[in-house]
Amino acid sequence: SPRVVVAGETLIDFLPDREGPLSGVESFSRRAGGAPANVAVALAHLDETPRFWTRVGDDPFGDFLEDTLRKRGVPTEYVERDPVAKTSLAFVAHGEKAERGFSFYRDETADTRMEPGGLPDSALEGVEWVHVGGVALADEPSREATFDLMRRAREAGATVSFDPNARPELWEAFDYVGSMREAFGLADVVKATPEDMAAFDVRGDPSELAHAILDEGPHTALLTLGGEGSVAVTSDGSPWTADLSVVAHDGYEVTPVDTTGAGDAFTAGVIAALVGNEPLSEVLAFANAVAAVTTTGAGAMTTLPDREAVRAFRDERA
Ligand code: ATP
Repeated sequence: SPRVVVAGETLIDFLPDREGPLSGVESFSRRAGGAPANVAVALAHLDETPRFWTRVGDDPFGDFLEDTLRKRGVPTEYVERDPVAKTSLAFVAHGEKAERGFSFYRDETADTRMEPGGLPDSALEGVEWVHVGGVALADEPSREATFDLMRRAREAGATVSFDPNARPELWEAFDYVGSMREAFGLADVVKATPEDMAAFDVRGDPSELAHAILDEGPHTALLTLGGEGSVAVTSDGSPWTADLSVVAHDGYEVTPVDTTGAGDAFTAGVIAALVGNEPLSEVLAFANAVAAVTTTGAGAMTTLPDREAVRAFRDERA
């Protein structure tokens, strides 16, 4: 029975065939995406197959996504099909420096209509870890569904992790920073990037950003730094504190082809390693390796390594 539950959006990313503004892009390729879906698939590749709760439309894109999840090893028992609302779409633009922009087709789409209690308590029984993300908090009822799941997961004794996944384009109805603070308060572990924290009134190096997260209640904050690797900061309440409360790993040098989903692969690596009781220094090394390998191919779900591939990659670098 699964040790990990992941919940949140599954959507279609349309990737442009060229760099530059969206108005100039003629063709796109369709990729399965959504940060929680990426995490779920990455966990399955790492032999930590989660229970995944999501909602897509009863439309051809929903068919494709459900099919993709199944083919990539994620059970689809808790993939809801909305009879009315459509599957979310995100058109991605790539700038010249590989920075990304999004244009979302996501008004009242299926993923925003996940409801509190949609995942029953029985699905949380015996589960050690529950992971959710910030996109679901930008709309109701998925916002309350996510907060409700976090609360029930805590009551069930699971470790709760949260990834802000800042997408400024999506925040209209609710305040981003206030929502993040509320979510941090319900999480044990937060994985974020400096960009996720840009709207917070905190300046300084990654460990200072991590401390701003810990101030809200979590016992562990992880910051990913792109090609520079990652940092973990823990508070006294952490079950994983090694000798140091700040652990860093420089990452691995690769030639990235597409960094989409690197952060999600990192999250999956962290969860898989922590559920396996690895020490934090090993957690960061493992998660950075999973993420680095993921950047070497196009698409968030296509180059995900299994444990053997991670081992081979690390051996080669050692
Ligand atoms: P995304 O939003 O694209 O999923 P992110 O912005 O959340 O990614 P990043 O901090 O860019 O997350 O990257 C996450 C992890 O992926 C890094 O901590 C690192 O391990 C790995 N990574 C990303 N970019 C590179 C790179 N250029 N070279 C090596 N590793 C990388």
